[in-house]
Amino acid sequence: MNCKQSCDYMMKYLDSELSDSEHAQLIHHINKCDNCCAEFQQYNSIKKALEEDEEIEPPENFEIKVMNKIKAIENSAKLIKEKRLVILYFVASIIFSLGIIICSVFLKDYILEFMKYVGVPTGITYTIYGILSNIGYMLMVLIRLIYCFNSMYSETYYVFLGLFVIAAMSKIYGNNEVKCKKDESVDVLQNE
Ligand SMILES: [Zn+2]
Repeated sequence: MNCKQSCDYMMKYLDSELSDSEHAQLIHHINKCDNCCAEFQQYNSIKKALEEDEEIEPPENFEIKVMNKIKAIENSAKLIKEKRLVILYFVASIIFSLGIIICSVFLKDYILEFMKYVGVPTGITYTIYGILSNIGYMLMVLIRLIYCFNSMYSETYYVFLGLFVIAAMSKIYGNNEVKCKKDESVDVLQNE
């Protein structure tokens, strides 16, 4: 038997999984090898100490404290979830409204005809038509501006791309930090 095998056997011994013949082999090696002998004595004293302290009483209120901490962690997770849901709804409703406005701008002539057909008062009909026309005009200006910017500063795209990557990285890094903090709180919980 070599020292590595002997180490494996010691681990098995600690778990009380050593057969009689394996035990004999281990003792045989330990008698010859000073290093393993010292190691075995250390393990043995730890094993004995653990067996004596098997019935460790948890401190008072331990369960209540743990439950409170778990509840606190769960609540904060719930809060984060709810916040995300609200943001998601908000973004979705903005995108939806924008979609409807853009569609209305494209279909403004049909909407005008429809309002006339249904019998909406002329004042309101033309006010709505005017607003839609203005939005359409602003959209056109915006698209032109983007187009101009695009042709003039096509290199700046890379700068924006770089900034975007940095922003994304810092976001991911921030999330990791939060996650680490959470893990730490779990550790504290386990240590108490
Ligand atoms: Zn050895």
